[in-house]
Amino acid sequence: MLGLRGVDSKALESILDRADALLPVVRDGVALPDPPRSAVIGLLFLENSTRTRCSFEVATRRLGHQPIVLTGRGSSLDKGESLVDTAANLAAMGLDALVIRSAIAGGADLVARTIGIPVVNAGDGRHEHPTQALLDVSTLRARLGSLAGKRVLIVGDILNSRVARSNIHALMALGAIVVLVGPPPLLPWTFAELGPGVEVAHDLDGVLGSADAVMMLRIQLERDAGRAVASDYRFAFGLTAERLERLRPDVPILHPGPMNRGVEIDDAAAADIARSSILEQVTRGVAVRMAIIDRALEFPAS
Ligand code: ASP
Repeated sequence: MLGLRGVDSKALESILDRADALLPVVRDGVALPDPPRSAVIGLLFLENSTRTRCSFEVATRRLGHQPIVLTGRGSSLDKGESLVDTAANLAAMGLDALVIRSAIAGGADLVARTIGIPVVNAGDGRHEHPTQALLDVSTLRARLGSLAGKRVLIVGDILNSRVARSNIHALMALGAIVVLVGPPPLLPWTFAELGPGVEVAHDLDGVLGSADAVMMLRIQLERDAGRAVASDYRFAFGLTAERLERLRPDVPILHPGPMNRGVEIDDAAAADIARSSILEQVTRGVAVRMAIIDRALEFPAS
């Protein structure tokens, strides 16, 4: 699972259905019907992470497998070892699958071509974050039913967001209309060329009323996006208490985390009981990652 570009609706739905079936294991502590042979899953996390890393670890354990976690700091990457060499060494220890987060766009792909075990992309630079998008569409499906024709606003630093990229692919495949909203430096019009299902807007207030769902994104300061952002960002693009009034009362609010409260999202929006789906995303993330690990282990090592 390296990315969602080109993945069709049938493949997406089969993963989402499998995640739905696994959700009671996460949410209600229901036992797995058929515990699989225990595997060892490597979690190679070379960029900061709270949710994705813990979620993969919980998913691995809930499936009855063993995680082994390696982060950048304290590893031989600090001594100059490359991503591919590090991954190849972990694979040589007989791991059954490897989950990789790195700052290198295409990093997981590069590793997958080199080592003979399944690789899952847990975020590669600005490129893709497929399991995040799968948990997002899982949350949206649970709230909205079929996503065909639904208008999903993705608001913020689109340019630097792997979450936006993976969601664009998934939402388009499921027939949703993706409305990308952000300041021009973080959202060039070229994004409108992605396809007929993608619209670009620079005026959040102009599109808020038509939204069936809203996904707020953080400004990717670690990718230098801060330089392109004006100091009044919140007033133009933040989901403030005033803007909540303009959203329909049933519109789910999503955020992949980490939230920068008071910048892209206000407390009132994050805590809106009827609309905020932010912790639901996190719960579904575990089920989605269980489904992905399960699926990865079905592919024999090459
Ligand atoms: N947690 C998400 C990611 O790793 C979103 C973010 O960091 O803003 O891409």
